Amino acid sequence: MSTVEALHQRSDSKCELCNATDNLAVYEVPPESQGNVDDSVLLCETCRDQIINPNKTDTNHWRCLNDSMWSQTPAVQVMAWRLLSRLKKEGWSQDLLDMLYLDDELLAWAQATGEGDNTEDTVKHLDSNGTVLESGDTVTLIKDLNVKGANFTAKRGTAVRGISLVADNPEHIEGKVNGQQIVILTKFVKKSN
Ligand SMILES: [Zn+2]
Repeated sequence: MSTVEALHQRSDSKCELCNATDNLAVYEVPPESQGNVDDSVLLCETCRDQIINPNKTDTNHWRCLNDSMWSQTPAVQVMAWRLLSRLKKEGWSQDLLDMLYLDDELLAWAQATGEGDNTEDTVKHLDSNGTVLESGDTVTLIKDLNVKGANFTAKRGTAVRGISLVADNPEHIEGKVNGQQIVILTKFVKKSN
């Protein structure tokens, strides 16, 4: 029996991720598929297209993983893990990922393509010298800053204690100056020791 026949039998001729029945084809799970049944999955065109082109990822399509992640087929579990990792900023997919248990060998396979390595987790806030800033640090202003809307100038040399990092913008931190919580550009501060 050929791989494609065996996959049709295994999947009952349905996409193994979303259950669609149209345009099914073999997808060899990277990176080291030998084209065997065990390292291939049968997928519809929609799934294949989005897997290959991450910029086409339609979050709602992947709600199907809610069911398919429970597959007994390792290759399907691996694909579910990768796609959930890709979408982990969505709360629901992180929740599913937390429930999806893979043993060490499978997890290594799932992680082999780097899917889910989230660069946003490693966004760093750097001061004017390139030193990494952390929440709670004390920084010093390196120039006078006009604080918009607050009608005062934060003087150069002012220490700002207990800063917080603005999560979605590596160039912004927040801290209290003159008793007011303000946003400060990281390039205008220096970390204090
Ligand atoms: Zn599909």
